[in-house]
Amino acid sequence: MSFDIASILVAMTLTMVTMALALFAVMDGADRAARFAQVSAGSQACGWSLLLASGSATPYSIPDVLLSTLSMACISGSFACSAAAFELWAGRKAIDKTPAVLAIFLTVGYAVGFADYAFRVGWANGLLALQMGFIVVTLLKKPHGTSARWRWLPIVGLTVQGLVTACRAVLGAFYPADFPAFLTPHPINVAFAFAGNCTVVLLMIGMLLAYREQAAQALERLATTDGLTGVLNRRAWLALANAKLASTDVDNRPLSVLIMDIDHFKQINDTRGHDAGDRALQLFAKLMQEVSLSGDLVCRYGGEEFCVLMAGEHNAVPNFDQRLRARLADTVFEALGHPMTYSAGMVTRISADKQISELLLRADQALYHAKTTGRNRTIDAVDLRCLGDVAA
Ligand code: GH3
Ligand code: MG
Ligand code: MG
Repeated sequence: MSFDIASILVAMTLTMVTMALALFAVMDGADRAARFAQVSAGSQACGWSLLLASGSATPYSIPDVLLSTLSMACISGSFACSAAAFELWAGRKAIDKTPAVLAIFLTVGYAVGFADYAFRVGWANGLLALQMGFIVVTLLKKPHGTSARWRWLPIVGLTVQGLVTACRAVLGAFYPADFPAFLTPHPINVAFAFAGNCTVVLLMIGMLLAYREQAAQALERLATTDGLTGVLNRRAWLALANAKLASTDVDNRPLSVLIMDIDHFKQINDTRGHDAGDRALQLFAKLMQEVSLSGDLVCRYGGEEFCVLMAGEHNAVPNFDQRLRARLADTVFEALGHPMTYSAGMVTRISADKQISELLLRADQALYHAKTTGRNRTIDAVDLRCLGDVAA
């Protein structure tokens, strides 16, 4: 069976245009990764349209040089943009500039060496293959904070496409007699055209899956964190704390809860305004996070009440409490311009505790004791003893 390269490439370009339009229609361009993906799809579609259009221009005429060079800029720019989108979706903050630099090199070199067919085919295909290889290597790196299973689709697509593109580079550069024109039905050129059709589909599905995964993560974050302070909300904390209690129940490992309530918080709102109250809550949550250790579960339990769950030896809570009081004393005036203290109740699990609510009940009683005996102190639920002399 013989294949007509032009038809395969026209079909591929049509798929690209359709996919690009679909990405612009369904993705929210306010998201940075999605914007890179949209630009990538759009510029890939433009690039191939221009390349096909250049076939109608007189070879080596100015329109041919312009259309072909612009198409190379679009196609290589598209790979640079998809590399950036994939990096962001894989949880990396900084985008590697290498694919963009390769795109600039490719375009300039292609324009300068246009008159030499072997050079320009070898150069353009070689650098495109390098770009694809670079994206594959980046995608193979461990993603941050996400499973990123979608990345296997672009990895497979770009590996195959990169390999046939590299073969095309060798064919064009060293065997130009076998590959004298863009539409020559050489087996490598046929493979390239078919692989292109599959790769564009894999890239687009990969992008849509990455976009969906990111949206799901954002929803999960919204559902589990407190909007004002960014720490866990009560529902998420209770679920995690109960799971932790169950997992440490087996060998009765130590587990403690500290419940904190800001003193006279209503006065801050009443005298300085609700915004000042909000800033105070944000500072408190920030300091709690700063002094907590890995594994501590910090949450805003509600209003001006916060909780932390700690696994570890018995003095974990007193140490946390000391660090927090010291940090608060050091920073509160500079950050808020007024004093702020808190009262707290601590509780350590006993073997009979099967639900976190049982610990919270005792911690709450200790907190109540802290409030009624003068505030600005932490009381241990075991003996209603004050942890250190911290009263103002
Ligand atoms: P105590 O020392 O006994 O704990 O007194 P308090 O004033 O801290 O406690 P009270 O329960 O009387 O007041 C808590 C206040 O917290 C009342 C409520 O308006 C305010 N509050 C709850 N959530 C927020 C919030 O998200 N932002 C602000 N600014 N205030 C909040
Ligand atoms: Mg309260
Ligand atoms: Mg209070």
